[in-house]
Amino acid sequence: MTKNTNRPQWGERTLAIHAGEGIDPVTRASSPNLVMSSTFAPNEMAGFSARNRSGYEGYVYARLSNPTVKQLEEKLAALEGGEMALTFGSGMAAAHALLAGRLSEGDHLVISDTNYVGVAELVRDTLPRFGIAVTPVDTSDLDHVAAAIRPETKMVWLETPANPIMRLTDIAAVSGLAHKVGVRDVVVDSTYASPVATRPLSLGADFVMHSLTKYIGGHGDAMGGAVVGRREELEALNLEASVHYGGVLSPFNAWLILRGAATLPLRMKAHQETALEVAHWLEGHPRIKRVHYPGLPSHPQHALARRQMKNFSGMMTFEVSDGPALAALMIDKLEVVHYAVSLGHHRSLVYWIPTADLMQSTFRLGPEAEKRYRAFAGDGIFRFSVGIEDAADIIADLDRVL
Ligand SMILES: *Cc1c(COP(=O)(O)O)cnc(C)c1O
Repeated sequence: MTKNTNRPQWGERTLAIHAGEGIDPVTRASSPNLVMSSTFAPNEMAGFSARNRSGYEGYVYARLSNPTVKQLEEKLAALEGGEMALTFGSGMAAAHALLAGRLSEGDHLVISDTNYVGVAELVRDTLPRFGIAVTPVDTSDLDHVAAAIRPETKMVWLETPANPIMRLTDIAAVSGLAHKVGVRDVVVDSTYASPVATRPLSLGADFVMHSLTKYIGGHGDAMGGAVVGRREELEALNLEASVHYGGVLSPFNAWLILRGAATLPLRMKAHQETALEVAHWLEGHPRIKRVHYPGLPSHPQHALARRQMKNFSGMMTFEVSDGPALAALMIDKLEVVHYAVSLGHHRSLVYWIPTADLMQSTFRLGPEAEKRYRAFAGDGIFRFSVGIEDAADIIADLDRVL
């Protein structure tokens, strides 16, 4: 078994490379081993049940834990400054683990009304079938959050910046408010920010959720998800969610994501640099109506972005007057930027998201909330995940279709 090294005093780049990893004591391998084994032969009597291992500390079965997966979990905990991390087979499996593992019949969830579409649909359609009430609100407005909280509210779920519209939520303010009135869990889906930009646990959140498929894996070749938080709660979630819901991460994906995560700080620096240059160019283009990028002074929450984000990432949106026509041209003509969903990869990705479609598919916002949504997204936006190619080549590619 690899001897993990993890020194909290290390800088972020060192942690990204070394946390959770170490020289293999048997082979002296310097890079992480890929251990695909689903079962492990104990060297002493060990309990059969995941809940009663008779004090045995070694690996037993890969749905409970696996050495390669464990190395990634230790790296993620170090990067987020949390006591422990748990990984899952996708970001959605991580989100489901938290929602189903922490909420029960009669509980109430307050959630950002602009959210990753899969999470929005999960809480809208599935949780009510299990007797869990859900109130979507604009979490960028503290009064809205305060008004939505009830005595039975057990969880507040934030996403910042929110996919797809780039609206931010003040994590420290909402966490303070929620905990003061007795809400047990504040969860932050920090997929857009990555731990390089924002450490939600240090701002008062109880759990951080990530789609590892995005920035942390970073190369568009492995799906995964993670939850980071306190050890006691995550050990309980491990026994319930990993063991019983079963959506665990494949060791092979963990191994790919480990390699991706090692360069996260360097990639995020490059994402920000490239995105800033591209955002400025887009803002100056006559065909572009509006750009939303937290790193631009024109972002309506730029002050909050400066306070809460150490890195503005590569995510932005832009609007034009004829979105569908431009999308069709992009599918045909783009060479560097791929017209495709997903985000946070080293290669640039762009996708057209019409507001009317989203209003149908997610929370079906009332007129007031829809107005707030449209203040960020108009009738539709291009969600643009700026990669780490040369900014000049991304700009030239866009220039040909604009
Ligand atoms: C992609 C994404 C998810 C879901 O993650 P998967 O790995 O695709 O299951 C959740 N939240 C946000 C913000 C995302 O961008």
